[in-house]
Amino acid sequence: EALKPNNFLRTIIERDLEQQEGQPARHFAGTPGDAAHHAAGPLDPAKIRTRFPPEPNGYLHIGHAKSICLNFGLARDYGGICHLRFDDTNPEKEEQEYVDAIKEMVTWLGWSWEAGGTSHLFSASNYFDFMYRAAEYLVTAGLAYVDEQTPDEMRANRGDFSTPGTDSPFRDRSPEANLARLREMRDGTHPDGAMVLRAKIDMASPNINMRDPALYRIRRAHHHNTGDKWCIYPMYTFAHPIEDALERITHSICTLEFEDQRPFYDWLLNHLADGGLLARPLPHQYEFGRLNLSYVVTSKRKLRQLVDEGHVDGWDDPRMPTLVGMRRRGYTPEAVRAMVESTGVTKTNAWLDYGVLDGCLRADLEGKAARAMAVLDPVKLKLTNYADIFGSLEHREPCSAPAHPHLPELGTRQFSLGPELWIEHEDFMEAPVKGYHRLYPGNKARLKAGYVIECSGCEKNEAGEIAAVLATIVPDTKSGTPGADAVKVKGVITWVGVHEGIAAELRLYDRLFTEAQPDAGGRDFLEVLNPASKKVVTGYLEPSLAAAAADLKVQFERHGYFVADRIDHRADKPVFNKITGLRDNWGK
Ligand code: ATP
Ligand code: MG
Ligand code: MG
Repeated sequence: EALKPNNFLRTIIERDLEQQEGQPARHFAGTPGDAAHHAAGPLDPAKIRTRFPPEPNGYLHIGHAKSICLNFGLARDYGGICHLRFDDTNPEKEEQEYVDAIKEMVTWLGWSWEAGGTSHLFSASNYFDFMYRAAEYLVTAGLAYVDEQTPDEMRANRGDFSTPGTDSPFRDRSPEANLARLREMRDGTHPDGAMVLRAKIDMASPNINMRDPALYRIRRAHHHNTGDKWCIYPMYTFAHPIEDALERITHSICTLEFEDQRPFYDWLLNHLADGGLLARPLPHQYEFGRLNLSYVVTSKRKLRQLVDEGHVDGWDDPRMPTLVGMRRRGYTPEAVRAMVESTGVTKTNAWLDYGVLDGCLRADLEGKAARAMAVLDPVKLKLTNYADIFGSLEHREPCSAPAHPHLPELGTRQFSLGPELWIEHEDFMEAPVKGYHRLYPGNKARLKAGYVIECSGCEKNEAGEIAAVLATIVPDTKSGTPGADAVKVKGVITWVGVHEGIAAELRLYDRLFTEAQPDAGGRDFLEVLNPASKKVVTGYLEPSLAAAAADLKVQFERHGYFVADRIDHRADKPVFNKITGLRDNWGK
């Protein structure tokens, strides 16, 4: 197993496991028969239990991959269980489409919420009954109240970092009056936004999150799971700790911005445990730094804007840092996992260079992707002595090359030479620069897996552009035949026969933004969109790719790694996306 990078969470978990030694594993959220027990149901025993809790309001991105690999990885490494939980407490922006896409991407990354024959797939909305009970309990215990201030008044009375807040005039109502009001909220007596349920903590707390945070709001919205059953919905800060406790999560791992929420997390769970609604030991929240990738944005709102305004071709556009986009671009789950694992887990938000991701991709594909020749910027090469050498222009001279230089089991690619070939424009220079070893008048170079040829010049069109390169075959120099090396050359040319080359749409992608941190310092990220992030060309592929299946990853020799587009590629209309080049050029 690869060396595990520095990870303070591992240290914490190992300490906790030592302390748990000899204690029973936690099976149940409550006592069998009580409300908490019913909410999440019986659970498999586990000493370590983590969760990945996406809100189903968009597509997962590379930052989420960090959280997924961290939570599922810790559970795997310590014999625990990781839950996939849809944090679906906010009905407005959530859709089944996102639920399905999230499940698909967690699976694609190589993780499973099935363990020991049991599915550990949960939805926060299944706990709405319990959450409401918890709210009534807090009201009854004098720990929550219904506030009828307007949203503006509430904001003004919250104070700020330098000013303590002001108590609401509704703060001292009796538990009975509050309970009646809360039930009216639930029963639909009051319009949306008329009042909220708030925790009663401390309006002067230096931590603004402790200044009587809202727990429930009135919102008549259809929920994708509970339909129209509820017209009040719990706030995230109230719902999330309860979800963790009901599922007996041991280590609730979240990103740094939730650090200031931890006191409320503990306040809430301790009060509910004191009231007998939840069982101890309670979950603990731990924060780690977010993963940001250079040259992309990862806020869901900004990604949505890119899609909605047509700056990209959808959520799965290969330039998007969404996992569906990265999959379509051709990044492998192995490369994504290697990249997020290489970053370790720290207490600071990390910026990772896109080049690191590309490096992981190359490390993964180098040892497994077949090679092929492709010409991306084609110009015709005419072999003027072809009929003299092979007897006729119709002759096809068979050539072959290994599919992979180190993997004989991948077999051999077959292709053939004809009188006209496609080569790259850049492989001919009428007046060569110093150090240029490819084709120029009088110079010899080798056709890869073919013959040595000698360039004799070129043909031009009326505009003076090069229309064809001319060369002659040097006899007895075929690769793999005795004496082939007698003629020494310095340049090697990749090529595809005009008679058998497969025309293909090649989508050449570059970074989506011209700045490494597109939204740094409040800049409008759209101002630094790279206008040349997508270029579409028609190239020619060697015949071994005629039957390429969608999603096949291949190395086009000299050019880099490409993937047959999983949506648009067809045998009769090939479409390949460039994943990345053969070396790192992100710094350039
Ligand atoms: P966004 O800010 O893009 O809308 P989010 O945090 O609101 O993302 P959730 O669906 O709530 O999205 O996230 C699910 C989990 O993924 C959370 O635990 C969150 O902390 C984690 N997560 C989101 N973005 C990142 C990131 N960039 N790095 C690490 N973890 C992340
Ligand atoms: Mg969120
Ligand atoms: Mg967010």
